[in-house]
Amino acid sequence: VACVATDFDFFYLVQQWPGSYCDTEAGCCFPGNEKPAADFGIHGLWPNYAACRPDAVTPNKTSCWPDFCNATDTLNPSLIRDLDSDLRGSWGTLSCKRKNSTEFWSHEWSRHGTCSGMGQRAYFRAALELKARLDLTGALRDAGIAPSDKAEYCLGGGGRNETQLYQVYVCVGRDGRTFFFLEYARSISLY
Ligand code: 5GP
Ligand code: 5GP
Repeated sequence: VACVATDFDFFYLVQQWPGSYCDTEAGCCFPGNEKPAADFGIHGLWPNYAACRPDAVTPNKTSCWPDFCNATDTLNPSLIRDLDSDLRGSWGTLSCKRKNSTEFWSHEWSRHGTCSGMGQRAYFRAALELKARLDLTGALRDAGIAPSDKAEYCLGGGGRNETQLYQVYVCVGRDGRTFFFLEYARSISLY
């Protein structure tokens, strides 16, 4: 595969709001049945192209990001063992299908981390540090937007007037440290 691991322009740090994930059809589960804090969790740190381009491998396909850059480079959990409690706190799985955060991290490493140009430990550390520095929940609270079952903000208009903020994508430079601007938030409509 003609794939260069460091061929990308920026990262998205993608964070998910647990309550909205739980309200999707798939529902949610927490490892150890520990309810997560009312805070965003990391979904991933994803290398992206600034402009979509013809795929290097598949004819007539367009790629907007590289993924699965090295099939033999699978996550070695022992390399991130010292990050385990931080990862469980900030990047825990909400999925009932897998229910296992290490599997979630392995998937994110294989699909996105292998294209980051970083080693395994550096990649997970970079995501944890970015999340801690950003404090998205705190920034929203400072702007008057706090988690609530009752308050309505600017995301109304879904099927039952229940459009919820689902994920926030923040742009980060190739160094994995420099925020450059808030790109977009994705919301989901619940029916
Ligand atoms: P969805 O279709 O749910 O938005 O995304 C499915 C998967 O495609 C994501 O989990 C992620 O692995 C990948 N993906 C979606 N959007 C992007 C993106 O903008 N950049 C990158 N790098 N991957 C993405
Ligand atoms: P992506 O969409 O990043 O390529 O892949 C997400 C994969 O990780 C899916 O297979 C999904 O089932 C699994 N997964 C495990 N835990 C989570 C979680 O907490 N959130 C999301 N979005 N996907 C998770």
